[in-house]
Amino acid sequence: MSSKIGHVFSGIRPTGHSHLGNYLGAIKNYVALQDEYECVYCIVDLHALTTVEDTLDLRQNTYEMALDLLAAGIRPEETILFVQSHVPQVTELHTILSMVTPIGKLTDLPTFKEKARQQPHNVNYGLVGYPVLMAADIVLYKTDIVPVGVDQAAHIEFTREVVRSFNYRYNTNVLIEPQMKNTEVPKVLGIDGKEKMSKSLDNHIEIAAMPEETRQRVMMMVTDPQRVKRSDPGNPDVCNVFSLHMILTPAEDAAMINVECRRAGIGCVDCKKLFAGNLNKALEPFRARRADLAQNPTAVWDVLHNGSRRARTIAEQTMVEVREAVGLP
Ligand code: ADP
Repeated sequence: MSSKIGHVFSGIRPTGHSHLGNYLGAIKNYVALQDEYECVYCIVDLHALTTVEDTLDLRQNTYEMALDLLAAGIRPEETILFVQSHVPQVTELHTILSMVTPIGKLTDLPTFKEKARQQPHNVNYGLVGYPVLMAADIVLYKTDIVPVGVDQAAHIEFTREVVRSFNYRYNTNVLIEPQMKNTEVPKVLGIDGKEKMSKSLDNHIEIAAMPEETRQRVMMMVTDPQRVKRSDPGNPDVCNVFSLHMILTPAEDAAMINVECRRAGIGCVDCKKLFAGNLNKALEPFRARRADLAQNPTAVWDVLHNGSRRARTIAEQTMVEVREAVGLP
C-alpha cells in the first residue's frame, strides 16, 4: 500500500526549453510534491498544437522538456512522466466533457481572449476547447491537487465547474474536483518587468541555457523605471530583479541590496551582475544533471514510454467508469 496522501497532476507544453517562470511557478512544486503525493506529470503536446503551427520541432521539444523535468528532480521510478498524445483516452473524455460545457464560458475566459489577440490569424477550435482538454487531463487521473502558476487559476476553476456539471448531469460522483496549488512565486515577470514571463513574448530566461546567455538576458532586465541615472536612488519594491534576488540570492546579500539600492549605493548594472551570478550558481546542478541525461536519449524516451503505459492503465480505468456513468453502450 502506498503511504502517499493524494493525487497530483500537471501538464506542461513542449514549446522549447523551460524558463524561470515555468521553473519557479510550477516545476519546483512538481518536484516537492513527489514526497507526499502520487504524481502524474504530462508533456502536453496536443495542447501545444493550439499555438504551434510548425510542428517540425515538436518531437525534439518534447524530449527537451523531459530532460528539463528529469534534471529538475522528477523521479520516474515513482512519478509518472508521460506524453499527452500517448494516452488517447484524454481525447475521448474531452469530447464527453464538451457536452456539459457552455460555449460562452470558454469564449469568456481571459486566457482565450489573450491568445486570440496574440494570434488573430489562427483562432482555432482547439484554442477555444483548450480548457476542456485540460480538464479531461486532470480528471482522468482522479487528481486532488494541480500545481500550476497563477495564470492557470481560471482553468482550474473551470475544471471544477465541469466536474460539478458532469456529476450532476449523470447523477454520479466518478469525477473529482481538483484544488490548485501555487508555488511561493505564482507569477514570475519577464525581463521586460511588465508581462508574465513567457516564451511566446520572448521575455524569458531559459533555465538550460549556457551561463553567458543567462548573464546577457539578465543584463537586459528592466529595473525600477523611475531610476534613470546611476546616482538616482532606486525602489526595490517595484523592481523585478530585486523580486528575483529575494528568491535566489542569499538573504544577507538581498538585505544589503534592499538598503543600498534605496540610497544609490549599488547601481542596477552591479545588482544585475550579482543576480546573474547567483542564478547561474543556483542552476549549476540542474544543468550538470541535464547534460548527463542528454548522453542517453534512448533512456529518456524509455522513461516517457513507460510513463505513458502506466498513465494509459489509470486513464482506461477512469474511462470505464465514465462510459458507464454516461450510459454509453
Ligand atoms: P508558457 O506560458 O511559457 O507557454 P506553459 O503554458 O506550458 O508555459 O506553462 C507551464 C507551467 O508553468 C504552468 O503551470 C504555468 O502556470 C507555469 N508558468 C508559465 N509561465 C509562468 C510565469 N511567468 N510565472 C509563473 N508560472 C508560470
